[in-house]
Amino acid sequence: MTCQELERLLYPYLDGEFQPEERVDLESHLATCAACQGRVEDERNMQLALRRAARDSVRQMRAPDSLRAGITRGLHQEHRRAQYGVWLRAGAVALVVVTVTGGWYTYQAGERQRRAREEIIKRHSRGLPFEIASSAPEQLETWFKGKVDARVALPQLPKAKPLGGRISILNGREVAYISYETLPDEGEPTRRLGVFVLPDEDGARPQALPAVEVDSAQGFNIVTWRDHEVVYEMVTDMDERDILRMLDEREHGTTVASTPRTLESADGNYSYQTLPRPQRSRPAVSAEPASYP
Ligand SMILES: [Zn+2]
Repeated sequence: MTCQELERLLYPYLDGEFQPEERVDLESHLATCAACQGRVEDERNMQLALRRAARDSVRQMRAPDSLRAGITRGLHQEHRRAQYGVWLRAGAVALVVVTVTGGWYTYQAGERQRRAREEIIKRHSRGLPFEIASSAPEQLETWFKGKVDARVALPQLPKAKPLGGRISILNGREVAYISYETLPDEGEPTRRLGVFVLPDEDGARPQALPAVEVDSAQGFNIVTWRDHEVVYEMVTDMDERDILRMLDEREHGTTVASTPRTLESADGNYSYQTLPRPQRSRPAVSAEPASYP
């Protein structure tokens, strides 16, 4: 695909009107062309900004109604109309601004999170070809060196082996993506999981290990954790119990999970912590070559 062809397909692509096969073409061009990557991100940001502005203006249009109602009420109740009206107006404006702004920030944070989640799922489920196929963690780590911002240390995931990796894009930034498959017990299906490794500089720091956050959307679970300055986003269709068991085994080296733990749920968001804190013999996420069965 050339830059011109991409330009022509830009809008259908952004609108999600593409078949998976068509995407492969376009995305593999994107993976190698910084100019087109910039173009796609600019256009995407522009669309988001427009949508945001449209929603924002709807909110702002509502504010004057309540303002007017309040002022009108005030005017009817108060003899010293002119003076009171002025003060009421000032008070009402301040109140409305605070309310709209507060709501807007919360809304934006939620939106950002939702968009990030969608992007992670989309990038994972497309199943684009690997740029490096390898089951050796150290080989994958070496390959990513210098290609992405984060220091890429593969997480140790027991009962899963890496298949390969590629550069992916999250939030307009090139990040490492590593695909794994599980090594299931007899009779259990093999599952795929993807891990994005990104630098922790978005301000939205997830909690550090051993805490992990589990979020779900569209039939996928997304597990986020931070280890020092590196953020991991793991996406999989494994169910939550199995994920937590896997992470629990990682926490305890080779111990099989019958360890007590808390699992708190609030609106589908879970925070998870192993109890009691064990003396770890090695870091949970390690740059040293891991051995996989
Ligand atoms: Zn191009």
